[in-house]
Amino acid sequence: MNLRRYSMLLAGAILAIAATQGCAPIAPQPVAQTGVERLYILNCGEGIAGDISRWSGTDAGKSMPFADSCYLIKHRQGWLLWDTGLADAVAAMPDGLRPADPRAIHWFRPKTLAAQLDQLGVKPSEIRFVAVSHSHPDHIGNVEMFPQSMLLVQKAEYEVPAGTPPKFKPEHPVTKLEGDRDVFGDGSVTIVSTPGHTAGHQSLLVKLPRTGAVLLTGDAVHFRDNWDHRRVPSINFNKEQTSASLQRMADILAREHAQLWINHDKAQRDGQKLSPQYYD
Ligand SMILES: [Zn+2]
Repeated sequence: MNLRRYSMLLAGAILAIAATQGCAPIAPQPVAQTGVERLYILNCGEGIAGDISRWSGTDAGKSMPFADSCYLIKHRQGWLLWDTGLADAVAAMPDGLRPADPRAIHWFRPKTLAAQLDQLGVKPSEIRFVAVSHSHPDHIGNVEMFPQSMLLVQKAEYEVPAGTPPKFKPEHPVTKLEGDRDVFGDGSVTIVSTPGHTAGHQSLLVKLPRTGAVLLTGDAVHFRDNWDHRRVPSINFNKEQTSASLQRMADILAREHAQLWINHDKAQRDGQKLSPQYYD
């Protein structure tokens, strides 16, 4: 008998006993029954957007700080890294990564990903899955730090038109997804297809035992104000797909009573626990 069935039977028995004793029924408590254990938020870059209107359509000419997060998830079946951030090489650049277009993001890397994994005692070879929200450089900068890890990416994101250089090394082990994927088979970590920012964008739903459900956005939305107003950045691949993905995410939040963790939202990130602290 699996744990879920057992706990349901147990809850039923308690309710039956409560009924015969004439006491008020005891509500069954949620039971942690999946293999997900912890989630660490890693600092994978910080930047300044030169002109936020490229993302928001408002406030032309105003700059805004961006965070860039990676998320390391400990599951009984192994480690999963969600996004890899800016390349660690950016940490050694005295003036960061200055964009050609001053309206874009000037990136810095205060800490390397390698140093943060090392602090946790996690070796790159121990990472079982590397899943990326999409193929922009602030998300795939360190994929090749994990040459043995199974890359989980949408087929639509992986594939490039003939004659275009590949986004990922052809020899890197990869599972090309076409839609959602229950990564560990227990419903605790689910890749959710959210196209629109790019052709094969995806987000991640994580059901932590104590924190509850958390939806990691990737770049399906960039910051809270855009979410609240359902704004679609002009730089996105497809406006209609983006809007449909935002609605899909809102439905997931309602159904799962999930929190929305927005990757690039620096104000939100500043209020969160960063590695080596964790959420469980
Ligand atoms: Zn990004």
